[in-house]
Amino acid sequence: MDTRDLLLRGATLVLDPSDLTMQPDESLSQYGAYLDTICLVAKSETGTTHFPSLNAPADPRNPEFFSSMARIANDIGIQVFALVNSHVDNYLSRDLNFQLVKSGGSKVQGMICPFQEAYHYYLREIIKEVIQYPIQGVLLKNSLYPRQEYCFCDNCLREFGSKIGAGRDFTMEHIKRSPNHLAMWQHWRVQQITRLVIGINQTIQEAGLTTEILVVLMLDPELQLIEGSRAHLGQDLNELRANSNHLLLHLYPWSKPFPTTNSPDYQSLTSNLEPLSELYRYNVQNSLFLWDVDSEDILDTAEQIKASLQSRYLFIQERAPPTALNRRSLHLDIDI
Ligand SMILES: [Zn+2]
Repeated sequence: MDTRDLLLRGATLVLDPSDLTMQPDESLSQYGAYLDTICLVAKSETGTTHFPSLNAPADPRNPEFFSSMARIANDIGIQVFALVNSHVDNYLSRDLNFQLVKSGGSKVQGMICPFQEAYHYYLREIIKEVIQYPIQGVLLKNSLYPRQEYCFCDNCLREFGSKIGAGRDFTMEHIKRSPNHLAMWQHWRVQQITRLVIGINQTIQEAGLTTEILVVLMLDPELQLIEGSRAHLGQDLNELRANSNHLLLHLYPWSKPFPTTNSPDYQSLTSNLEPLSELYRYNVQNSLFLWDVDSEDILDTAEQIKASLQSRYLFIQERAPPTALNRRSLHLDIDI
């Protein structure tokens, strides 16, 4: 689909520098007339930043994409959102202390264990830097576990093992045998994800700013949408709603195809999303996020959902980042 058509239909473009075929200022001059809001990747899935950071390594190819473009866009009256990747971080996942581990012991490349307090501190320091730029808000993406079989790193084994009196010698199979332990496992993982959101709210408050934080909820049919988001990913709708004013609903991040409006899949998607139409009662806004949008049909469906949920923005990243393919197999538990 043509980028200009997306913009004309009111989508908010998410620009990832690794996917840009032109220089940032060129793309602004080409599309600037159609833009009132834009989202720029500030910290990418590789773990590098697109602004000078005292904490994280700068991206070798596009070290100042975010910092320079946020300023230019703001100068010409375009509202800017920053996208920050949280637990997907290829750079720091090489650190043994941060590694995410599957039940049984296999280590995962590219993702960070959400129990790691030091990593949460690191993210808060990065958010502190990002909010110094003239931005409206931050899209906090990828704060999640891949599936319920994570994380079984040494720290998680020690901490959760002490809760269930199992020492460090247990697996997902052991946990699943007891409904009580499974409920505790899910609750404990939700706490880790929610703790990051609470910490980031504090960071914004301490900075004396009102920058919005859009907290992601990944909703994929293979992972039972809202239910799976809690059970597998650690993203609990009620907890996030209580700790955020704006939820970012990433629809169909891994499954394909995105349903058309007259299909049974669309019916089951919209009935599952029903609780989200009540968000306004809690003074919580929502926005939609989609990637890999290559047809008018996808946009038609997204627009219908946006209208029914009264979503504020429809963020569209035209292509998923290259690293997303590996993570798709991780989340759906398939071999590629
Ligand atoms: Zn862990």
